[in-house]
Amino acid sequence: MTDSVNTSHQLPSDVNYPWHKDTWSNFVNAKNQDHLPHAILLAGEEGIGKLKLAKRMAKSLLCMNTTADNKEACQQCVSCKTYHSSSNPDYLEIRLLEDKKQIGVDQIRALSEFLTFSRSYNTHRVVIINPVERMNLNAANSLLKSLEEPTPETIIILVTAKVSDLLATIKSRCQLLTVKTPTKDETIHWLEQNQATNNGAKIDAETLFAMVGSRPLKAEAITQEDIENKQNFFNDLSAVMNQSLSISDMAKKWEKHDFERLINWQLYVVQNAIKKPIGANVNTMEEGEIITQVSQHLNSEEHWHLYQNLIKQKQYIHTSVNPLMFLENMIMLWMKAGK
Ligand SMILES: [Zn+2]
Repeated sequence: MTDSVNTSHQLPSDVNYPWHKDTWSNFVNAKNQDHLPHAILLAGEEGIGKLKLAKRMAKSLLCMNTTADNKEACQQCVSCKTYHSSSNPDYLEIRLLEDKKQIGVDQIRALSEFLTFSRSYNTHRVVIINPVERMNLNAANSLLKSLEEPTPETIIILVTAKVSDLLATIKSRCQLLTVKTPTKDETIHWLEQNQATNNGAKIDAETLFAMVGSRPLKAEAITQEDIENKQNFFNDLSAVMNQSLSISDMAKKWEKHDFERLINWQLYVVQNAIKKPIGANVNTMEEGEIITQVSQHLNSEEHWHLYQNLIKQKQYIHTSVNPLMFLENMIMLWMKAGK
């Protein structure tokens, strides 16, 4: 995801998501008391705006004239202006390069070099690394050195949705700041206010929630076609469970789809099935049929088992070398659970 370039004189104000409130307060308190750590590990689910929050923090640290009440960046000083024109000399963002699956050691070496420069007009120097769990081992070891010998007035913000994938030695040198996942009500409320239209077609907030769960920012990319895809996916899964479609045919059909999205749909369905008493009437959503089917076939222990196995499967999305085998294993989880 790239930031759009702002060409007008009016700088955009920072996005302020209601579910970020507590994390922001913790940050502002630490800043006011001069207790900011050298490294912040900003952790939370995908699709809840962690990177936007990290950037809001970075701008607040770089700004020469933050607002008195909430320490927001002023959007007017030379530091804010250079930030928005991607030329602030005291700011560095390390991200996945295009077509790369990992953050490499060269990128972290650039960080070490950056830390040797003297600061210009800013009070702080800020580095954001996102997603930090995608550093390869050499990069992680190189970062460790920078964390072990902190540079004064420098704050490194590590952004991750997978704290458990990080080296313990890195985690122990950061202060963990967790970003809350919005509740279902908060998500739906926000979607109603902000996501009234998707690519011109109105999709209601409940339907979007069924697609993305409590990851409201993922809703931007949802189209009518995605909703139809989801319906087809569960129809196929039903067909496999009824033995009118083979596992390998289903795998071939879904090979080109976003695996993370496929797994998230299933997690949502299984989660809902867990909550339904056996034989309960399920609402009109397209996955209603499969939820009923799952509810009838599985006891609560089997639901949990399937749920946990899907979570495990999700961890292999980026490391799996054979997409077809990945999908077949994923579908097999349902067959095993249904036995
Ligand atoms: Zn400013």
